[in-house]
Amino acid sequence: MFDLDKLVRPSVKSLTPYSCARDEFQGKEGIFLDANENPYGNLNRYPDPLQLELKGLVAGLRGINIEKIFLGNGSDEVIDLCYRIFCKPGIDKALLFTPTYGMYEVSAAVNDIEIVNIPLNDSFQIDMERARAIINDKTLKLIFICSPNNPTGNSMNHSDVEELIASFNGIVVIDEAYIDFSAKSSFLPLVAKYQNLIVMQTFSKAFGLAAARIGMAFADQSVIHYFNKLKYPYNISTINQKAVIAKLGKRKKTLAEIKSIISEKERLVKLLGKMSIIKKVFPSDANFILVKVKDADLIYNILIKEGIVVRNRSSVAENCLRITIGTRNENNSLIKVLESVQI
Ligand code: PMP
Repeated sequence: MFDLDKLVRPSVKSLTPYSCARDEFQGKEGIFLDANENPYGNLNRYPDPLQLELKGLVAGLRGINIEKIFLGNGSDEVIDLCYRIFCKPGIDKALLFTPTYGMYEVSAAVNDIEIVNIPLNDSFQIDMERARAIINDKTLKLIFICSPNNPTGNSMNHSDVEELIASFNGIVVIDEAYIDFSAKSSFLPLVAKYQNLIVMQTFSKAFGLAAARIGMAFADQSVIHYFNKLKYPYNISTINQKAVIAKLGKRKKTLAEIKSIISEKERLVKLLGKMSIIKKVFPSDANFILVKVKDADLIYNILIKEGIVVRNRSSVAENCLRITIGTRNENNSLIKVLESVQI
């Protein structure tokens, strides 16, 4: 049985969080002499610590209650908080299916949490036999599932993921950073069904706001409570909140940008598939394509010389490059260089 109170680190459960001035008074009008702010300027006031205006828009966008939303300083803050809320340093473990997004491992190391790695199978899906064998380990507290996965680009089988959520007594975090590029359905509706599920999304990708550093976590309010308890009091700046609010007002533009990225991806997949230097183009539900090439280091360096930077993923997937979809002109430049390569 999943028991949230037992799962949360005892020091987090007993923590008295910092109470900021704006937690006590939330009105917009008034003479504010409560937070030792400077009375002059445009950015002189602390931001709303709970980002309620922005969360109201996110709630409408994703069809979920405001109490089930946490906004972090990028998804990276959400990942770090997961370790700090649920894992005891030096004792607990987290499970990853690799290759996957690097920050799960880095953040685990920062928090002194051991990682258990299960390699994805040949179709880049979860090896369920190995996963089933480990999920009853009492020190395993977190499972990270990235879907669509970075760097492979594919989505995980829905039934495998749901089986893990239903049978695991710890927290399952599904990272959906690339979900808006995918035709597959989000795991978000499952948040209403499973208290041990956290779905992460971000404004960094499909919304084009990587500079604003805002990631989202959706979970039962009992779980969100601990994120709010542990976060830095003003974790998201007013400037960044406003940037997202403005972008959410331009829904048509965002959808058009997503559509053009997807159609450029389809065009690139076809063109890359015809090249002799490319051995395989892996299917992608994201805004990037993983390709297996004849010699990844060589091709990476040729592209660099031409001022084109892709990600060499050879260290985690043999002879593979990860190519982000750019504008039509950027993609044309890439294709031109690749077509000229003779190996
Ligand atoms: N999750 C995945 C799978 C990613 O690939 C990335 C960034 N490359 C992130 C999260 C980071 O998101 P954010 O910018 O919100 O920290």
